[in-house]
Amino acid sequence: MAQDGVFGALVKPESMLIDGEWVAAVEGGTLPVIDPGTEQQIGAVALGTAADVDRAVEVARRACDEERWMRLSAQHRSAVMWKLSDLIAENADELARLESMDVGMPEPTAKAMITEAVNMYRYFAGWADKVYGVSAEIGPAEMRFQGFTRKEPVGVAALITSWNAPMIGNAMKLAPALAAGCVTILKPSEEAPLSTLALGALALQAGVPAGVVNVLPGLGSVVGAALTAHDGVDKVSFTGSTAVGKQIVQAAAGNLKKLSLELGGKSPMIVLPDADIDAAVPALAVGMFWNSGQICTAGTRLLVHSDIADQVAQGVAEAGKAMKIGYRTEPGVELGPLVSQRQLDRVEGYVAKGREAGATVLSGGRRVGDKGYYYEPTVLTDVDPSMAVVEEEIFGPVLGVLSYDEIDEAVAVANGTSYGLASSVWTRDINNALTVARKLKAGRVNINIHRAGGVQLPIGGYKQSGWGRECGPEGIAEFLETKSVVTRMWA
Ligand code: NAD
Repeated sequence: MAQDGVFGALVKPESMLIDGEWVAAVEGGTLPVIDPGTEQQIGAVALGTAADVDRAVEVARRACDEERWMRLSAQHRSAVMWKLSDLIAENADELARLESMDVGMPEPTAKAMITEAVNMYRYFAGWADKVYGVSAEIGPAEMRFQGFTRKEPVGVAALITSWNAPMIGNAMKLAPALAAGCVTILKPSEEAPLSTLALGALALQAGVPAGVVNVLPGLGSVVGAALTAHDGVDKVSFTGSTAVGKQIVQAAAGNLKKLSLELGGKSPMIVLPDADIDAAVPALAVGMFWNSGQICTAGTRLLVHSDIADQVAQGVAEAGKAMKIGYRTEPGVELGPLVSQRQLDRVEGYVAKGREAGATVLSGGRRVGDKGYYYEPTVLTDVDPSMAVVEEEIFGPVLGVLSYDEIDEAVAVANGTSYGLASSVWTRDINNALTVARKLKAGRVNINIHRAGGVQLPIGGYKQSGWGRECGPEGIAEFLETKSVVTRMWA
């Protein structure tokens, strides 16, 4: 049960973290937490409402105005962030257990994500004392000015995340927000709130002052909507679907709050005729099926040169079939269930639509068992770019395979959706790889691997995959305002 271990020790049951205290929701509601591998309820968390949002925003504004975080020296804040990373690392096994219980992913997958989160807090801890601007001498000889820029925290930041990788999603937002000096309200997904609550507790333990990290679980349509519309919030950093991203743009218009939006994707993997097929096939399968395809950057469209299309499609289908699906704690399990019945219905619906439109199911295409939301890695052929299954984000283990004859044709198809998050090119020819990389309209291009990146490099979307970037220097810039200060100089 969720109450065992680190969560039970740190988090008061059915409570939210506001101003350093664990408090029940104003209206007293709770939200059940379901293990997607068994469909059993494993706990419950507080169910926030707009009244809790008002309370949290008031606290956050006060913490911001009192400079509870910013009045500490940059070195002190950096040390606190590093301490937080240590606490996450020390509790990695327990946090991985919690995360895998909530999301369904195998524990080793969750552990890998927690290691990545630790790295993010450490990287941004290093940024806390490197936030500074530029200086310039301005003006003609008879009236000179000395100017400089100050980089200031944007203020109260609402951090809203999706359920597919909560510890990473949180780290990509909370780490730069803290490094920039912001005060935060975290709103985890209703599908997977546990690790975010534990994170709030660890932040307090690390020495983040009360009120600087608040955690507010609840429904997106209630808590998320109230936060994004609230005049007391200066910035929203959101990870989730493009549809909700568009609602947030509208909700944020009232006080024109700053927005960063990490949205959906339909990322292409382009295999050129000279690719090393034996090396590529297993890596393509991982690029698509890891975390059961519930990854924003998953390589959901495979574009293969017609000379090798059948061979590569067959290889990826076999690799998918060989992946062990099962409960999160079973030894050797590579893929867990989908997160919810809703997600399972969505995947089944898209595959049915694909079949109706003429797609061939080369492998997979079925639910596994009748308890838990397990679904087979699925490869569809005989698809075309206009089919919903190829054009729209499914967020499940479903790959569409398309073939092409000319590179430019492949690039046109790759760029032919409203998304532009990630992509990959597979070839032995670096010149071709870089030429394709230049032409792709995506925030990230990987070569001979799919989904490689690191906290040092920004990730984010072209087109409707989002606004702004996370990670790298761009990641902290999203949480900073720039102020120009100019003084007249007397001769
Ligand atoms: P979602 O859009 O349904 O929900 C995301 C978050 O927004 C949740 O916390 C939810 O409670 C909240 N929310 C829902 N309605 C809201 C509203 N009206 N106002 C404010 N907040 C609201 O997405 P999801 O199903 O949780 O996650 C899957 C989606 O997230 C996919 O589209 C995936 O591509 C995307 N994603 C993107 C990235 C990225 O970095 N680009 C990373 C992970 C996931």
